[in-house]
Amino acid sequence: MYTYETLDIQSASELNETTLAGKTAKEVIRWAYATYGNDLVYACSLGAEGMVLLDLIAKEKSDANVIFLDTDFHFDETYELLNQVRTRFPSLNIQALKPALTPEEQADQHGERLWETHPDQCCAIRKLDPLEKGLKPYNAWMSGLRRAQGPTRAETPFVGRDERFQSVKICPLIHWTLDDVWAYIEVNNLPYNKLHDENYPSIGCTHCTAPVAPGEDERSGRWSQFGKTECGLHRA
Ligand code: SF4
Repeated sequence: MYTYETLDIQSASELNETTLAGKTAKEVIRWAYATYGNDLVYACSLGAEGMVLLDLIAKEKSDANVIFLDTDFHFDETYELLNQVRTRFPSLNIQALKPALTPEEQADQHGERLWETHPDQCCAIRKLDPLEKGLKPYNAWMSGLRRAQGPTRAETPFVGRDERFQSVKICPLIHWTLDDVWAYIEVNNLPYNKLHDENYPSIGCTHCTAPVAPGEDERSGRWSQFGKTECGLHRA
């Protein structure tokens, strides 16, 4: 089993270009749990890809560990979906991680509307720090990134060394298109965030998510007013 310390560039290349080359998402997930078992956690954002991964994961390891970053700033529809997911996958070990600061404490210590004045700092407090803490007990984490989500994700491998969180990162859906994701949701009758039906292909915090126009990049509605494209969770 490779850890952050032992997964060097050559080992990662061998995994991606030999062991996992041409594998389906289901096969990558099977390999991931056979390799890491309870040492693997899925960080789920409850996006459309998240519904697919939760279903595939539950079929492979029904008591898998899942974390969701509850920034306190999600849409009501997202919290409603979290409840639906808990009902649909009762045996998954789903934990909602909260930031160290409440919204009020954040405003007191760092100023009102930090997401407008210093969005990177806001994401660090409400997403990165909680995820870093949440990943600590595990050797590997899983993410629903897809290469087609935009230029910042175009080179994502199945398995890589995550320098930011000092972990091994596994992304079984890299080769899926958005159509693949929605076809899977439909065929398996999975719950999903109702905002997706209102032109929100990518959904984060209320303050930083806007609907997108037809033909725009899937993630162009995220931080559209701040010139920011990623929260920092998926830096290469
Ligand atoms: S997405 Fe916006 S509101 Fe949410 S943590 Fe990041 S900056 Fe703050």
